[in-house]
Amino acid sequence: MKQIALYGKGGIGKSTTAANLSAALAEDGLDILQIGCDPKHDSTRMLVHGTWIPTVLDLIRERGDTNITVEDVVYRGFGGVRCVEAGGPEPGIGCAGRGIIATFQLLERLDALKGDVIVYDVLGDVVCGGFAMPMREGYAREIYLVTSGELMSIYAANNIARAIARLSRRARSRCSLGGVICNAKNIEGERELVEEFARRINSRMIAYIPRSRIVQVAELQKQTVIEYAPESEQAGVYRDLARLVYGNDMTSIPTPMEMDEIESFALEFVQV
Ligand code: ADP
Ligand code: MG
Repeated sequence: MKQIALYGKGGIGKSTTAANLSAALAEDGLDILQIGCDPKHDSTRMLVHGTWIPTVLDLIRERGDTNITVEDVVYRGFGGVRCVEAGGPEPGIGCAGRGIIATFQLLERLDALKGDVIVYDVLGDVVCGGFAMPMREGYAREIYLVTSGELMSIYAANNIARAIARLSRRARSRCSLGGVICNAKNIEGERELVEEFARRINSRMIAYIPRSRIVQVAELQKQTVIEYAPESEQAGVYRDLARLVYGNDMTSIPTPMEMDEIESFALEFVQV
């Protein structure tokens, strides 16, 4: 079983990428479990045609964690992908990471953490407590950083790289960096910048995903690109990503950059 995680800044395209990755792997006949670890709880939404599946935290709030079955939390989506959403706290109270911790405890108890590939889709703005859990506790072995060329998303990716570097020294965690996925925002020098960022943190850009209108159109139809436009170029990009990730055996321990180093390095790619 391969366990991978996509980490990155909020809104950068983790869920879009994760759902299309899962859909492409499922098309190849693999048994996939995708777990949304973001209080936004929309990670698997395009796989289940826009429905909001009950989150683990909602279920626990409603009936306590001993009265929940696998059928209550795991929903079949496109291609048979099994979908789970950790959920989040009610705004203003509780800790956002708690949903993730509760989700792992529940899925362990229900013996539901299985399949050919588990894809964790994790908000990476703060790599604290619950959000670090997939990599800290030995679940996610390969981490993929999703970023664009925008500085804010590079900062977030670099922070996650720092967490991976630290956690990789712990026997229990066993996580390493699988690569950097550039989800393009179409900014100047973006591809080169992300490529160079990946190189500087001792990794590589494993895929470049163009910004494409078809992503939004598919989203409005509440489907992944793989399902909505299987013949499109963008679907091909996600299939290539799926094959690269599935066959990836080149992971590394990242060497994060310093803050001021990131700023001066980014300047090299932009005409001012
Ligand atoms: P995250 O999960 O990181 O918060 P999402 O996957 O929800 O981000 O993406 C945020 C928005 O960006 C969505 O509306 C999505 O349709 C759009 N998006 C993501 N990737 C692309 C892309 N390659 N091309 C066009 N739009 C994209
Ligand atoms: Mg998301």
